[in-house]
Amino acid sequence: MYDLTPADLEVQGRARSFIDELIPYEEEAEANDGELPAEVDARLRARALELGLHATNMPKELGGGGYSMLQQVLVQEQGGRATNALGWVLGTPPAWLPPVASPGQIERYVVPAIRAEKEECYAITEDGAGSDVDAIVATARRDGDHYILDGVKWHVTSYNSAAFAFFQAKLTDGDHAGEHAMFIVDLPSDGVRVVRTPAYTHTINHHHPIVAFESVRVPATQMVGAEGDGMAFAYEWFRYERIMVASRCLGGAARLIEDTTEFAKNRIVNGHPITEFGAVEAMLADSLTELFAARCLVYETAKAIDAGAALPVQHTQCSMAKLYASEMAGRVADRCVQIFGGRGYMRENVAERFFRELRVERIWEGTSEVQRSIIANQMVKRGPSTFV
Ligand SMILES: Cc1cc2nc3c(=O)[nH]c(=O)nc-3n(C[C@H](O)[C@H](O)[C@H](O)COP(=O)(O)OP(=O)(O)OC[C@H]3O[C@@H](n4cnc5c(N)ncnc54)[C@H](O)[C@@H]3O)c2cc1C
Repeated sequence: MYDLTPADLEVQGRARSFIDELIPYEEEAEANDGELPAEVDARLRARALELGLHATNMPKELGGGGYSMLQQVLVQEQGGRATNALGWVLGTPPAWLPPVASPGQIERYVVPAIRAEKEECYAITEDGAGSDVDAIVATARRDGDHYILDGVKWHVTSYNSAAFAFFQAKLTDGDHAGEHAMFIVDLPSDGVRVVRTPAYTHTINHHHPIVAFESVRVPATQMVGAEGDGMAFAYEWFRYERIMVASRCLGGAARLIEDTTEFAKNRIVNGHPITEFGAVEAMLADSLTELFAARCLVYETAKAIDAGAALPVQHTQCSMAKLYASEMAGRVADRCVQIFGGRGYMRENVAERFFRELRVERIWEGTSEVQRSIIANQMVKRGPSTFV
């Protein structure tokens, strides 16, 4: 099915059996604020690396996997089958960085990220700027051969485990005043502090604190690319992350459907398995049908990227993949909670955890409304048939 080659199937199988090793740790993570014992965490990270499932998206010549986009999707899909972000050990370092990084940045950040020695975080969103990234008020002021960075960033995912942050700001002076620039800030650094770490709906060991950058002085060599380039990097990261979010949603939905079908076959009510009740059949059938549709969409998008589709096609199809797969997964999780009945409301139940965890997939990396706006703008501009 899906025209997967033997190599694709091998990658998929390798990722699936690794995630099957992680699933038994979900309830322990849920009960412990997302944390696993340090030695278990270290062992699972090492195993992901050893199996070639970390940095599948990074260039081979730098030590990455150099996988096709479809194979990256297959790996992240499996990662999405585990709750509590346990699948995040299948790390995808910033693949947009190597083509624009200086040799020093490659050595200090890209290569260690590929080896899973350093993790990154993204400090872009602010109190007044989420969907509209251009509304950021963080600043970068040139001072000799340094820049001074100021700004308060929200929802900085993985700050608690990151070794460096991508900080996006607007330039205060020079030819590019008012435009965006992206900087790499080592963590910890003088002037960088956590304002607070709010609790979120999911239970994972990657926190999303509000982080203040106050007169943080970085050498000009910490800028990525050139002044004015910042927005382009953010867009590239969003595009990539959108198809990865979509892939993980496929995995979450597939796991939910498998576990729920198994439960429903064995749950006897009024002397009958509940799979004999039309209302339950409808929920199962709709879920499987929508998963199939989403999977075809996401895989076709990945294949189009591998085949070198034009950038607007990639951009629009990634938005469609994220929009449909995240909304599909949300519907599936809701139905699965319902099919599990009271058990579906217990934290020890897979459907309860996915029901909470999948909600954010419709918000981060661009909300569903923003994806719809991107798709509609593109279809009006270039014609619907360009994209389907
Ligand atoms: C758990 C979590 C982790 C995150 N991690 C990171 C991170 O690591 N780094 C980072 O920089 N950011 C991160 N984010 C931020 C995330 O990308 C933003 O929350 C998201 O882009 C939405 O922005 P907002 O929250 O400011 O909502 P807003 O932009 O204020 O949107 C509010 C509402 O208005 C709607 N809306 C906005 N614009 C439009 C429009 N044009 N048309 C129609 N409706 C619209 C939205 O869809 C939404 O319903 C994270 C967020 C969460 C929840």
